[in-house]
Amino acid sequence: MNQQRSYRPRLDIRAGRIDMTHGSGGRATAQLFEEIFLPAFANPHLERTEDQAVLPAPACRLAVTTDGHVVTPLFFPGGDIGSLSIHGTVNDLAVGGARPLHIAAGFVIEEGFPLADLKRIADSMGEAARRCGVSVVTGDTKVVERGKADGVFITTTGIGEVPDGLDLGAHRIRPGDRVILSGPIGDHGIAILSRRENLTFDAPVESDSAPLHGLVSTMLAAAGGGIRAMRDATRGGLAAIMNEYAQAAELGFRLDEDAIPVRPAVNAACELLGIDPLYVANEGKLACVAAPEAADAVLAAMRGHPLGAEAAIVGEAVADPHRFVRLETSFGGGRVVDWLSGDQLPRIC
Ligand code: MG
Repeated sequence: MNQQRSYRPRLDIRAGRIDMTHGSGGRATAQLFEEIFLPAFANPHLERTEDQAVLPAPACRLAVTTDGHVVTPLFFPGGDIGSLSIHGTVNDLAVGGARPLHIAAGFVIEEGFPLADLKRIADSMGEAARRCGVSVVTGDTKVVERGKADGVFITTTGIGEVPDGLDLGAHRIRPGDRVILSGPIGDHGIAILSRRENLTFDAPVESDSAPLHGLVSTMLAAAGGGIRAMRDATRGGLAAIMNEYAQAAELGFRLDEDAIPVRPAVNAACELLGIDPLYVANEGKLACVAAPEAADAVLAAMRGHPLGAEAAIVGEAVADPHRFVRLETSFGGGRVVDWLSGDQLPRIC
C-alpha cells in the first residue's frame, strides 16, 4: 500500500456510508482499512499491510477451518455478526483440540451500508479476537451494489495448533460411550428468531455466542485421553451433530430427553413457533463423546467452567446398524431424531 500521500478528509463514521469506491482497491479502500479495520484488529501482522501475513510455523500439526457468516439481523441479543464470526471459527478449531492462533477475514459489504455499523462490527470482532487470544492477521474487503448483498457477509478462516498425540474424531466413538452436552440448547436460534419476528418473552433470550477453547482445554486436561470426539452444536442443532456422529461412527445413539437442558423461555418459544429445540442452532455449546470411565471426570471439569456450569450427560452410543439417533421421551416412549429436512431457520449464523 505504497501510495502518494495527499490530503483527504477522515471517514465520516457517524453518518457516512459505504460506496462503490470503498471496494475499488484505491484510496477509499485503503482509508477504510486504515480507519476501521486496522484499529479494530491492531496487530503487527496486519500492520505490515502486505498481501499476506507471514507467520511462524508451530512445531506441531495445524488445524484449519473456514466459515461464512450471513446471519440476519446483524446485531442481536447477546452478540453480532462480528463476535459471532470469531467465536464460530475459534469453536471449530477448539472442538478438534486445537489452540486457536490466527484468523483471516473476508468482508462482502453492500453499497449504502452505514460506516458506523461497519465500525461497530469490526470493533466487536477485534474485541472478541483479543479475548480469545487470536489475531486477525489478514483480510479482504469487497463492495457489491445495493441490493446484491444484505448489509455485510463475513468469511473467516482460522488456524490453530493441535498438540502432538491428540486424536479426536467420530471414528473413535464406541458403543457405551457417553454423550455430554455443555449446557442448555436453543438460545442462539431463539434469540435471532425473536428479534427477527419481533417476539418478546417474559425472560428475554440471548444468544449463547461464546468461545469454547477454554472449556475444551479444561476438559482435555481432565479426561486422561478419554474424550473421543467433540463438535459444536451450531446450525441444525444437537440433532445434526448426533446424526453426523452416528453416520461417521457407524453406530446409533440413545438420548434421554429429560437430561437435555433447555431453558423454560426457549422451550416456550419453541412451542409457540412449532419448532423442536433439538434442531435449533447454538453458538456456544458443544457435545462431547467420552469413554464411560472418563465421563464423570469430564463432566465435573465442565461444570467447574463458567461455560459448562449446566453440562449434563444426555445419552450414550449404542450398536445400531441403522445409525439411528433415538430420543427417549419423558412419557417412556421414544422417537427417532432424524436429520433436519429443509431449512427450519435460514441465515441463523
Ligand atoms: Mg462446528
